[in-house]
Amino acid sequence: MTSNLDLIIVGAGAAGIGAAQAAATSKLNYRVLEASHRVGGRGLTEELAPGIPWDLGCHWLHSGSINPLARVADQLGMHYGKGSESRNFFLKGAWVTPQQQKDYADYTTRQWHAMRAAEDEQRDVAVVDLTELDQPWSSYYCYWQSLMSSEDVDQFSFRDLTAYQDTDENWPVTDGYGTLLTKHAAGLPIELNTTVKKIDWSGERIKVTTNRGELTSKYIVITVSTGVLGAGDIEFLPKLPLATREAIDALPLGCYNNFAMLYEQDWPFDADTPSRIDYSNGDDVNFAFKLNCSGWPYIYCAVAGRQARWLERQPPAESESMMMGALKDIFGNDFARKITRFKTSAWGGDPLVKGAYSASKPGLSQQRKVLSEPVADKLFIAGEAASTKAFCTAHGAWETGRDAVKML
Ligand SMILES: Cc1cc2nc3c(=O)[nH]c(=O)nc-3n(C[C@H](O)[C@H](O)[C@H](O)COP(=O)(O)OP(=O)(O)OC[C@H]3O[C@@H](n4cnc5c(N)ncnc54)[C@H](O)[C@@H]3O)c2cc1C
Repeated sequence: MTSNLDLIIVGAGAAGIGAAQAAATSKLNYRVLEASHRVGGRGLTEELAPGIPWDLGCHWLHSGSINPLARVADQLGMHYGKGSESRNFFLKGAWVTPQQQKDYADYTTRQWHAMRAAEDEQRDVAVVDLTELDQPWSSYYCYWQSLMSSEDVDQFSFRDLTAYQDTDENWPVTDGYGTLLTKHAAGLPIELNTTVKKIDWSGERIKVTTNRGELTSKYIVITVSTGVLGAGDIEFLPKLPLATREAIDALPLGCYNNFAMLYEQDWPFDADTPSRIDYSNGDDVNFAFKLNCSGWPYIYCAVAGRQARWLERQPPAESESMMMGALKDIFGNDFARKITRFKTSAWGGDPLVKGAYSASKPGLSQQRKVLSEPVADKLFIAGEAASTKAFCTAHGAWETGRDAVKML
């Protein structure tokens, strides 16, 4: 292994790839060390059926018009959608009335104003503390907000919602976001199957111990998740400063899994069925279903927080029966026969991630900035958790990697 390096980048997910692209532009002598047999990290595209890609991790180019990875997709000739979706709410066994639709929209506006007011008062509390919980759609609203941070609304700060830079443009990568990241990484000096075990930053040069030997470098950019850092999978010598350790602890990963239900007909629904259905039994069963997700013949949905953790520990049939129950409620009992395959991700059990994405503990939302601060001018932590405006996303992760290299 090479040891006269300027820079070592740990991890080849979105942040590691962003860092590597910046290092290549700056003509640095660098290597990326990736524990897995593949690049992409939480970006992973598989086939649901031959020729039908589906993403187990990131899929949408959030804030599309300001998302740097949309420009990368353009350069690589990859496809993404920009179309709007038709949408309706199926609540307690019936489609909502226009008046209920308006009431729901007014409700979400009120919750948003409550968060803005709390921000003006400099509060930093859990989302649930600012949420009206006694409305027919409260439980759906809480489910939806849990998807934003991969945690339940009592577990994360509302500031993760107000600080996030959102243009409300969520463009699905039709060919798969994982494939986009893999193509973007082509040609970069990435050592796969190389697990970083120890980082000794006590001397002038940083000494990195891996399962395949030792390397040294002047700088290091670490992009592994806060799940991996918090678990102590990498030993630091000396320990990371207390402020950095506290920031890691303040930004644990939640759990969030994607689900795909394949059907064989082009559109096995009535012609006027909306492409996005918000479903709630008014209590504990809530799903946002996307039909013909990104133009492919499958229904997409996701769950987060405690429910995702619990479902991940059950056989997939448990998730399937819960989602099919909701779909039968909407489309009738015969609908189940149209679904030919059911797939789910399982990020909580991935030993190289240990969750989905970071959620700021209430009272500690400022810790994202602390996490991104350089340590001793040579050790830089990047990755989605270290982004202050696009955390929890692939493009936010990519930007932190690029920005870390710009600081060298
Ligand atoms: C289900 C799901 C859906 C999502 N949907 C979206 C979406 O639609 N749009 C969006 O923008 N974002 C989405 N996200 C979030 C997005 O995927 C992540 O924020 C982003 O991919 C994180 O990138 P990263 O580089 O920070 O971390 P990672 O992707 O986790 O990369 C870190 C890398 O480090 C490697 N590694 C770990 N330990 C070691 C070690 N000891 N030595 C060497 N390498 C190591 C890992 O294998 C991994 O490749 C989703 C995430 C999930 C889980």
